[in-house]
Amino acid sequence: MTSVATSISLITRAEAERGLKGSPGASAGSTCGADLAKGPWEFDAAEALRGLPAYGPGASVGDVAPASTPRQGQLPQEYRDAPEAELHERIRAAKATLGDRVVVLGHFYQRDEVVEHADFVGDSFQLANAALTRPDAEAIVFCGVHFMAETADILSRDDQAVILPNLAAGCSMADMADIDSVEACWAQLEELFGTEPDEDGRVPVIPVTYMNSSAALKGFCGERGGIVCTSSNAATVLEWAFERAQRVLFFPDQHLGRNTAKAMGVPLAQMPMWSPRKPWGGTDPETLQDARVILWHGFCSVHKRFSVAQIEKARAEYPGVRVIVHPECPMEVVDAADEYGSTDYIRKAIARAEEPTVFAIGTEINLVNRLAAEYPQHTIFCLDPVICPCSTMYRIHPGYLAWVLEGLVEGEVRNRIEVPAEVAGTARVALERMLAARP
Ligand code: SF4
Repeated sequence: MTSVATSISLITRAEAERGLKGSPGASAGSTCGADLAKGPWEFDAAEALRGLPAYGPGASVGDVAPASTPRQGQLPQEYRDAPEAELHERIRAAKATLGDRVVVLGHFYQRDEVVEHADFVGDSFQLANAALTRPDAEAIVFCGVHFMAETADILSRDDQAVILPNLAAGCSMADMADIDSVEACWAQLEELFGTEPDEDGRVPVIPVTYMNSSAALKGFCGERGGIVCTSSNAATVLEWAFERAQRVLFFPDQHLGRNTAKAMGVPLAQMPMWSPRKPWGGTDPETLQDARVILWHGFCSVHKRFSVAQIEKARAEYPGVRVIVHPECPMEVVDAADEYGSTDYIRKAIARAEEPTVFAIGTEINLVNRLAAEYPQHTIFCLDPVICPCSTMYRIHPGYLAWVLEGLVEGEVRNRIEVPAEVAGTARVALERMLAARP
């Protein structure tokens, strides 16, 4: 067991189930792809045929998945053919047989048919910590995406197996910063800035990675005096970094970095963007010398869909509407909103509203619809009228959950995610720095 621990704010399974009942305030509209109605196994098969990974239908459908993206082997036919009611029954039966030997975690952005089987529902870091409250669990089944399972593996005991039900559930944003490109960038920055601290003892540059990144990048930060942040604590982490460095290299999400640094008073001119594979990242040495935050060219395709026009439309249709967006949204969207914050912030803001309120929310549709159902006294809708979920969260389906749970019943661990010990060690250092950082 690691020493990492934090206060967690999760919703219980009962609360999540209340959110499944539907509500008149729930978002409704067309979907961004007819393929969303298909079983994810059709995309596993298509990838095997083409030899190339893809993210699947949904918001990231146009993003190019790197060749290194994990792929899922074919789900056995019986799980592909089983009616959904049968899958739910098999999941419940397997969980009952396994008892405390298993804990199932469900991310806020997962489809409801998966969330209904989760013991905890939350964001990625909350869930990794929730698993620590179940020391008897031999297996942690993480219904989320790849980097989340890696974080859970880093924080859990070595003898606990972390399982990702579909290996193709990656994250297109996390894939936008790979370790080789970040190391190449770092080498250029060190050449330009040197490594000597200034008279205040601040090093030239420090790396900060968003939780939504591979374990390798967390380890990279741990090794170089850097740190991890979440969307809840990004400002605290940037303050921590500015106390120790003249500049920050922030990856992979440019929007979280820009929105957070801008709110702290960093001018946009001092936030150049680093595009991997371009000389000097597409910028120039003078701009980099003057930089306070060097932003990696990464983004979340779910949150990139939100626009100022959607906010204007919501305000025209619902005078007095409260617009809350996630900080992964583009800067102009955050600027046009009334508030911005993490999924935890959005949930708490709605939970605290005493009077019936109209909320227009800029984050993933599964969470927004669940909140709409959970709080029927409010009108809650997604700013995006088109239903376009996260492509990689979509790759988890009850069929895969039943398959991994029944594997455990039979004594077989399927789809285990294991972070190599040397990477886990340095990644844990970066996570521990984050937990120790105080406002
Ligand atoms: S919502 Fe965006 S950041 Fe989150 S898992 Fe999906 S692609 Fe990645």
